[in-house]
Amino acid sequence: MPVALRMTSLYAPTLKEVPAEAEVVSHRLLLRAGMVRRTAAGIYSFLPLGWRSLHKIEQIVREEMDMIGSQEVMLPIVQPAELWIESGRWEDYGPELARLTDRAGREFCLGPTHEEIITALVRDEVRSYRDLPLSLYQINMKFRDEVRPRFGLLRGREFVMKDAYSFHADQASLQEHYDAMSRAYGRICERLGLDYRPVEAESGQIGGKVTTEFMALAENGEAALVYCDGCDYAANVDAASTIVSRTPAVTEPMPMEKVATPGIGTIAELSDFLAISPHDTVKTLAGVVERDGARTLVFFCVPGDRELNPVKACWAVPGVELLDEAGFAEFAIPKGSLGPVGVKPGTLVVADRSLEGDVSWGVGANEDGFHLVHAMPGRDFEVGEWADLVVAMPGDLCPTCGGVLKGARGIEVSQVFQLGTKYSVSMGASFTAEDGIEAPFLMGCYGVGVSRSLAAVIEQHADDAGMAWPVTVAPLEVAVLPLMAEGEVAEVGERIWRELADAGVEVVIDDRDERAGVKFADADLIGWPYQVIVGKRGLAEGVIELKDRASGIRTSVPLADAVERVAALVAGAKSALAARTAHP
Ligand code: ATP
Ligand code: MG
Repeated sequence: MPVALRMTSLYAPTLKEVPAEAEVVSHRLLLRAGMVRRTAAGIYSFLPLGWRSLHKIEQIVREEMDMIGSQEVMLPIVQPAELWIESGRWEDYGPELARLTDRAGREFCLGPTHEEIITALVRDEVRSYRDLPLSLYQINMKFRDEVRPRFGLLRGREFVMKDAYSFHADQASLQEHYDAMSRAYGRICERLGLDYRPVEAESGQIGGKVTTEFMALAENGEAALVYCDGCDYAANVDAASTIVSRTPAVTEPMPMEKVATPGIGTIAELSDFLAISPHDTVKTLAGVVERDGARTLVFFCVPGDRELNPVKACWAVPGVELLDEAGFAEFAIPKGSLGPVGVKPGTLVVADRSLEGDVSWGVGANEDGFHLVHAMPGRDFEVGEWADLVVAMPGDLCPTCGGVLKGARGIEVSQVFQLGTKYSVSMGASFTAEDGIEAPFLMGCYGVGVSRSLAAVIEQHADDAGMAWPVTVAPLEVAVLPLMAEGEVAEVGERIWRELADAGVEVVIDDRDERAGVKFADADLIGWPYQVIVGKRGLAEGVIELKDRASGIRTSVPLADAVERVAALVAGAKSALAARTAHP
């Protein structure tokens, strides 16, 4: 089916003014070009052009899923509470889960993700190892009642996701599919024209351990990353293991001294007061964990100029929760002057690995208004455990090759997880293995933020005039701009438009009775990748102008060659965006 549209009948209401609520480029341009409209906070309607681009992304994702043998299904958005109670997430998911009750009083939720539905579906049908592996995917709306929906399609409450789930009899099979998915995700990014990096990540709410996020690099990205130029290592700072290089000012043991520090409660105040760098102080944070039925205090010590990563705190001490105000009251400890010396009996002291070997710690004295300087581990206090605890930062050393890490920001466009048996065990989903024994499925889950990817593409492909789409995601590939609404110019424009459509190019004609300047501005705003400009002066010389939106370069092309040239350009641009990552 040829795609040939007319601007006069296209529903793409453009806006002159930048809407005030739109903080990022993609949000502003999607609204200005009439591609989406906000229906409620974090909830958007897709207009024809937005829908076309979204659909193209879906199609690329679909092709890549089909290619690795995942099969498309369609699962319900409204999900019964019972399944979520079985998995334990009815409690755990919290207020992001939108819950509803039907007329008979039964409870449901709007699917923020579909592990429960798919696990229930498969457990009732798949019985034998012979039916495995199995991989299913869907492209569907998700609903998450996000605390802070913002940045348009980047963080919506209702958004389009491709989610895939796989079931395996053994780890080797799971790993194989996980690798195939990861490569497919790389290929998807490449075909969307995204500058991206796969990064090590933290698995959060979903569970499981092995996981990679695919980050579109962007200044507006919500995620902070570190990466190494010397090797492939890259990680979300939430998960990055790191080697902090330390150069303490005092390297010889000195007698510990207690110093009065009236009113001092923060590292900044302490380092000012003691006239030492925050780097040479040690910050102690308190947490609590259930141990042998008792609530046990945990002190985490990190260099004063670094932040404790709560995820790593949990890796070091599974189940630990950082103390809130009530917790400080419960244990009667002074929040502003905690330290590892003279702790209450039973307190577990966990210190950041970078402090190992430092002989002179400036720490809180566990007494309001006092600190200790030159405290020495092994002499003045004991460290129960050394662990990697801090949020990674550019300048830290790469855990793989020792190179210096750099920082970047990114938009998480997709993520792959190995779930293991988290859902199959809690929901009783098992199969009969080859040896006749009943075993829980090993599972993987894999998500692409389809609507978020649309915005991410714009974040990377826009300029002051508007969007500059990669041809694979553009709502249409070519626009014909006849600069007059009547006469030869209009007729030639119409002819080129028809011939391009017949040649299989997706093409729109700006047949509005508008000034050339208006047509140029709208064409650049919407960002048609190639523009065929037909004007009176050019026609007198037998030429049209061909504009490449991304580079802005215009070239004169003989009228007779125009259709062939444009079709070849589009085909060339498409093959330039073919995936680089090898298909497995
Ligand atoms: P985030 O950390 O950004 O909240 P997530 O890790 O919770 O996302 P996943 O559960 O991994 O999200 O969902 C798979 C994909 O769905 C994400 O990689 C992202 O591209 C997309 N996504 C998640 N939340 C949103 C949202 N609120 N709006 C748009 N896309 C989203
Ligand atoms: Mg994620």
